[in-house]
Amino acid sequence: MFRSLHMKLVLIMVLLIASLMTVVGAFLTNSVSQFYMDEFYSQMETVFSDRQFARDLTTPEDGEEDGAAALNRVMQSYMGMLGVDSRNRNYYILDSTGVFLAGSDLIGGQALAVTPNLSAALAGRESSDSDPTASFMDVAIPVTRGDNTFVIYVLDNRSTVESLSNELFTLIMEALVFGLVISVLLSFLLAKTMITPIERLTDAAERVADGDFSRKIEISSRDEIGILTSAFNDMAQQLKDTLDAVENERNKLSTLFLHMTDGVAAFARDGQLIHANPAAERMLQTRLNDEVAYDDLFGTVAPLFEVLSAPDGGYIEGEREVRGRTLALLLAPFSSESQGGALVVIRDVTEQHKVEEQRKEFVANVSHELRTPLTNIRSYAETLSDNAGELPPEMERSFLGVILNESDRMTHIVQDLLTLSRFDSGRSELKLSKFSFGAAVQDMYNAVVLEAQRHEHELILNVPGQLPEIRADRERVLQVMMNVVSNAIKYTPDGGRIAISAGQTEGRVWMEVEDNGIGIPAEDRGRVFERFYRVDKARSRQSGGTGLGLSIAKEIMERHNGVLKLVDREGPGTTIRMELTVEGPDHE
Ligand code: ADP
Repeated sequence: MFRSLHMKLVLIMVLLIASLMTVVGAFLTNSVSQFYMDEFYSQMETVFSDRQFARDLTTPEDGEEDGAAALNRVMQSYMGMLGVDSRNRNYYILDSTGVFLAGSDLIGGQALAVTPNLSAALAGRESSDSDPTASFMDVAIPVTRGDNTFVIYVLDNRSTVESLSNELFTLIMEALVFGLVISVLLSFLLAKTMITPIERLTDAAERVADGDFSRKIEISSRDEIGILTSAFNDMAQQLKDTLDAVENERNKLSTLFLHMTDGVAAFARDGQLIHANPAAERMLQTRLNDEVAYDDLFGTVAPLFEVLSAPDGGYIEGEREVRGRTLALLLAPFSSESQGGALVVIRDVTEQHKVEEQRKEFVANVSHELRTPLTNIRSYAETLSDNAGELPPEMERSFLGVILNESDRMTHIVQDLLTLSRFDSGRSELKLSKFSFGAAVQDMYNAVVLEAQRHEHELILNVPGQLPEIRADRERVLQVMMNVVSNAIKYTPDGGRIAISAGQTEGRVWMEVEDNGIGIPAEDRGRVFERFYRVDKARSRQSGGTGLGLSIAKEIMERHNGVLKLVDREGPGTTIRMELTVEGPDHE
């Protein structure tokens, strides 16, 4: 109940008023009784030190018989000055032994208590010591009148001051009750002016905490609470702006993450996955949900604590194989505070690796291919120069023949390499023209028929009457056809059968070359179009092959948007098929 500010306010005011009244009351009653006491003693002092009074008391009248009665008369005449009212303040005349003789109090005189002052006066000493704790005030004075000694005793029972105190107490109590009522009323007023705006602020703060920035608080006054309200409004607005900016940034980032080709996965400090983009899922080939932890995915690459303790801007690089694909990983910590964690960027470098491998292999192949003829040329030339003029002329001729042959081979290789390199760098333009596909096949047939006959092959040509004109680089297309057919001639033992057929399907023309030669083993079929790849190196070299023919042919066909492939069929022998579009490559 006393939790609310309003009740606290009431309580404070009540306590304040009660304590104020208590203090004021205590002071008031205390000083009233002190004043009364001081007044009594100073009155007594004034009267008793009066000379006339002293004379009246001590001087007996002429022929006086009853001293006590005479004293009584004197006292009665001074009653007013002494403030004796016969009720609360009385005087008594006692003899020297303390026996009551006369007094203003007609009834109570008998039971006089012997106070310290009285006993001192009975002993002959004047006494007016005050005792603030006592319930009375008194003064006792020994008086010698003639031969007799009396004691005059003035006693005040303080009931005047007590009734005054009671009166005061009642007054204070009334004031207290009145004050309390006022304080409660005031507290309502205060509550209205102070607590209501505070409650409104509290409500608004709760709304803001729940993320509702829609309402502003009305500023109803220009005081401190008004300033606080306007500061709160500003703060809420700034918070909203900041949140909007953060949200915007987040949206930007998540769009970026969603569409970027690199995989990104973020982990909290405890290793739990916070975020991963679809690319990361694709590359790691697992579903990435909340249950996935860092250690499951990258624990083997680098422990999480190592990544987290990398210096600012630092990162760890790693690699992982996932189902035959090579993933390059970059692991970096983000914001080092407790909020931070580790970020992993994943890139699929399988192709890059493959290209790199191929490049290395290619360079090794080129060197190897060139070294063999060079070694041959060198050793034959050496033999010739060492034995100049000594060798039989036919031997010399045969050696020179080998040297010429080998240098031709090298020229071939270098020419082929140049062709390939021109293709690779895109420098080799196709010289497009329209020509009859059928005529081209026929021309190629005429060019190779002699070579086929030399190997006693049966060369069969099967081309339908009308094949359309196509748009292509005639020379290059002929080069491909020749390459394919001369391969068939080379890799078919003498006396074989080679069939060349051609035809057309919607918008395309095709040519197939079928032989019954040595064939290509299944495991090599995928690789024969690679540079320098040869199934049987010795046979290829012997027949002057460079291992580049088919790769150049395939390159040419691809540039024409055409196809060059091995036809899947049962052995023996090989069938190669080329296809071209009638329109030719559209971009060139
Ligand atoms: P090469 O100059 O060695 O002939 P190619 O690139 O033309 O190089 O051919 C690559 C390899 O493919 C050859 O070395 C050969 O082993 C194989 N090949 C090509 N055509 C045939 C075929 N008709 N029959 C059997 N093997 C072939």
